[in-house]
Amino acid sequence: MSPALAKTALKKYFGYDDFRPLQLKIIEAVYRGEDGIVLMPTGGGKSICFQIPAVTMNGTVVVVSPLISLMKDQVDGLNAVGIRAAFLNSSQSSSESHRVETAFENGELHLLYVSPEKLLSAGFFTFLKRRNICLFAIDEAHCISAWGHDFRPEYTQLKGLKTAFPNTPVLALTATADRLTRRDMAEQLGISHAEQHVASFNRPNISLAVRPGQKRREQIINFLRERPEQAGIIYCLSRKQTEDLAGALRESGYKTEAYHAGLNAETRAKVQSDFIEDKTLIICATIAFGMGIDKSNVRWVIHYTMPKNLENYYQEIGRAGRDGTKADTLLFYSYNDYLTLKEMIGGGANAELQTAKLERMKEYADSLACRRRILLNYFSEDHSEDCGNCDICANPPERFDGTVLAQKALSAVARLKESVGMGMVIDVLRGSARAEIMSRGYDQIKTYGAGRDTSVFDWTQYFNQFISLGYLYVAHEDYNKVKLTPAAHRVLFQQERVELVKMSTVKERREKEQAKTKKRATVIREKSGLFDELRELRKSLAREFGIPPYLVFSDATLQEMADQKPVTDAEMGRINGVGERKLARFGDAFMEAIRRYEAVGNE
Ligand code: ADP
Ligand code: ZN
Repeated sequence: MSPALAKTALKKYFGYDDFRPLQLKIIEAVYRGEDGIVLMPTGGGKSICFQIPAVTMNGTVVVVSPLISLMKDQVDGLNAVGIRAAFLNSSQSSSESHRVETAFENGELHLLYVSPEKLLSAGFFTFLKRRNICLFAIDEAHCISAWGHDFRPEYTQLKGLKTAFPNTPVLALTATADRLTRRDMAEQLGISHAEQHVASFNRPNISLAVRPGQKRREQIINFLRERPEQAGIIYCLSRKQTEDLAGALRESGYKTEAYHAGLNAETRAKVQSDFIEDKTLIICATIAFGMGIDKSNVRWVIHYTMPKNLENYYQEIGRAGRDGTKADTLLFYSYNDYLTLKEMIGGGANAELQTAKLERMKEYADSLACRRRILLNYFSEDHSEDCGNCDICANPPERFDGTVLAQKALSAVARLKESVGMGMVIDVLRGSARAEIMSRGYDQIKTYGAGRDTSVFDWTQYFNQFISLGYLYVAHEDYNKVKLTPAAHRVLFQQERVELVKMSTVKERREKEQAKTKKRATVIREKSGLFDELRELRKSLAREFGIPPYLVFSDATLQEMADQKPVTDAEMGRINGVGERKLARFGDAFMEAIRRYEAVGNE
């Protein structure tokens, strides 16, 4: 088996010209019969690493996956490109599974997907030994480790696999970076010696942005207005939040559904399949959503509230832009969210580790340096260049000497005897005359009205900066009263200089960004006529063939068609993502649509 053969198969079946970094190296190791551990981010292209061996080697590749809900889509996707694949799991009728077993025994399958339960069921190893198995691919392999974040007890039995099939290579694939989990995973599978193929976690097509968590709904509506017809996920902290937000978005005219563990299985499955089929564009979900989803055209991900660590955050934003084209993410952050998460950790098991992880998450949200560098550093990758695709890179913050502002604020806190919350301090600074202030006599204190010329919005941002700089803290256990830290005394009594980020620049930045995206949105709209038509065509073909639209062609492929306007088989075959089978099955329909569009456009 040669690299050239692998490359030919990549083009023939998937329509891709080149392997991504590492894919070919992993495939060649499989050809040599070596075990391997594959660490790639979500959307990195793990599947190709066992699918190409399946169509180029003698025998069947057995794929073990705990995500039963995903198997059908994966198998449909493979069949759509002419690869013979089938699955065996508990969701099937016995006649269906019987048909698959026969196909396997007759040597008709390139790939056989099985759940761990099925693999370990009585007599199954003997059944597999009737044919030549050229590779075992263990997907989501971190589930075998109790250290990992989604441990599946049934996975631990996989230990026996290597003993039962000593000559068949085992490939363990995961997107979990945690080193401890990875080592444990390899040990459990009996492949500690195996080479580790670690891909970069960088996903440069995903933009990163963090915004203050004020007027979140309004900000979300603005965000959506700039992205008509694009699919996305909004992650929330609670069930109630998902329901409320989904309701509000529906009222504003967006097809939105809530998804959380409190819904029954039937409703959850319906919400999920409507999303996959592009019938629902927006899902407001708790973290339970996404594990079983392989949709490549999720164009954006919003975090309504901050996740509890960077691993979760990265995994969740990673569900956007799996097709490699531009995708946007937005994280809302407020100090209160951080306090809520901290309270949720409480003093339970692992509290120390979880708190440390939460602190890193907060540092990311607070950061005034390139966000991607922070993320990649966290995943032990050293990137010394700024990324150019995050909010900080787009508009580096301007700093100024904020000592006087800080003195006013801290002195107000002191004069209010550290006995009120942030909102009250700001009202006093701004000289509000509301009844509570007058009745408590706060209008008599020296700093009353000293910050009149700064807006409430800006003050709130400055207070958040004072908190993250360590001059103030919020006593959550004491009615969220704002208190001074020892460092505050250095500002008040020793003239310590305080550097702040200019709020006006943050505002300007936001306006500039909005103007830019508005411009971009209109550009896309002008040019998108053909793209939209191709997307409609994709939808109707998907319905006809009973598969999700993204399995017909990805957004990236449609975009390339809209740009290149191929009208011959040869031209169409050069488009990335158009393999032989799809060219034969869908090529004519798409070329016809392109010709029609061109004819009308030229009239
Ligand atoms: P993972 O399983 O690692 O999350 P997938 O295997 O689902 O990722 O791949 C993510 C997307 O990237 C899919 O749409 C896949 O077709 C595409 N892809 C994979 N390898 C390549 C390649 N060499 N060239 C172009 N696209 C690719
Ligand atoms: Zn950056």
